Amino acid sequence: MGRVTGRSCIVTGAAQGIGRAIGEALLDEGADVCFADINGDKVAKVASENETRAKKHGGKVLSCMVDVTQREQVVAMISQTVDAFGKLDVKFNNAGVNKPMNFLDVTEQNWKFIMDINALGVMIGMQEAAKQMIAQGTGGKIINTASIASRQGFDNVAPYCASKFAVVALTQAGARDFAKHDITVTGFAPGVVATEMWEDVDRSLMEMGASSRPGEAMEEFATGILKGRVAQPADITGTTTFLASSDSDYMTGQIVMIDGGMTLV
Ligand code: NAD
Repeated sequence: MGRVTGRSCIVTGAAQGIGRAIGEALLDEGADVCFADINGDKVAKVASENETRAKKHGGKVLSCMVDVTQREQVVAMISQTVDAFGKLDVKFNNAGVNKPMNFLDVTEQNWKFIMDINALGVMIGMQEAAKQMIAQGTGGKIINTASIASRQGFDNVAPYCASKFAVVALTQAGARDFAKHDITVTGFAPGVVATEMWEDVDRSLMEMGASSRPGEAMEEFATGILKGRVAQPADITGTTTFLASSDSDYMTGQIVMIDGGMTLV
């Protein structure tokens, strides 16, 4: 029996990277999983590639196209999941973006793009998941993707840091508000994870002159990691499944650092 057997879960930003890995790890431990992403075709492919995995562990799989900044799409995603799985137990607000810019060059457009998806998207996701869980009367778990950039400001990604500090604030505020409904709100904070997001960040930093060759920025970051290497998505998922399981029932309002010891807070 897996740690999340029979739990109905939604993971946003699940077409690739950390979100895909979170969803697959949940399936491995018996959950029903809705993989949701703004890239509808890609996430549908991810879901179909996971049919066998779901069957093997007694779960079900679903995909959904969603823009997490659009409330009506988030509501539709939740009702599609409830129609397919009968309820909603766990909601991962994981979709996120980054676009590095030198601090003095940051534009309103860069700020709004990042804040809308990473902060407003998380708030809408929390609200709509909580409404469903309250209506069910079952309690539930909301899990937000934070970052080392939730704990420290980094000069080339100021709006990203602001958005990820916001994720901590929303996690704490939601934990206080939803406790009376037996809904816990937690978060996890990766450091440097080898995903397409980091490849994009690495490329942007090189274009900005902050590094001189592909991979250099990532290597520089990696020198500060006590574990001596960057993370793979699989390094994150033992903790995310724990946060989705009853083993974490007495935790709420907390962010778990999963950064190999980069940020000691
Ligand atoms: P990624 O770029 O590989 O995947 C992000 C996914 O989010 C993509 O599939 C994308 O299509 C989706 N997405 C973007 N905008 C969306 C929207 N409006 N609605 C729905 N989906 C949307 O990134 P990743 O590295 O897997 O990052 C996942 C999360 O982890 C993000 O919140 C990111 O900020 C966070 N994080 C990543 C790292 C890292 O080093 N990779 C470190 C700390 C935190």
